[in-house]
Amino acid sequence: MNALVYLLGLLLGAAVFFYILSLYHSGADALAARKKEKPNGKIELDPNLMEIVSRQSYPRERICPLCKAVLTGDDVLYATRVEQPMGPKILIHGCRFCYRPAQENAGENSAE
Ligand SMILES: [Zn+2]
Repeated sequence: MNALVYLLGLLLGAAVFFYILSLYHSGADALAARKKEKPNGKIELDPNLMEIVSRQSYPRERICPLCKAVLTGDDVLYATRVEQPMGPKILIHGCRFCYRPAQENAGENSAE
């Protein structure tokens, strides 16, 4: 009886071991197949998934990146184009709710 329990435990352990081994090999095969598909290292996006995502998110409301105020169609963002060594960048100052040009550069552009 004791030997039978021992044998059963051994068989169960071997079954679990081979099941985990098969899971490891199927995962390794899937990774190898994925690497073989894209040898140049480019990230491939699923166009159908992208379409669904963009369909869900548009039209979306415009939000000021600084104060998170919801902007209507007429509201503008105040920004300055800044030339950088790696290319031009846009420096966002804010929207009509959070940008106060008189405070930021007092005496510089006070005519606006
Ligand atoms: Zn704002």
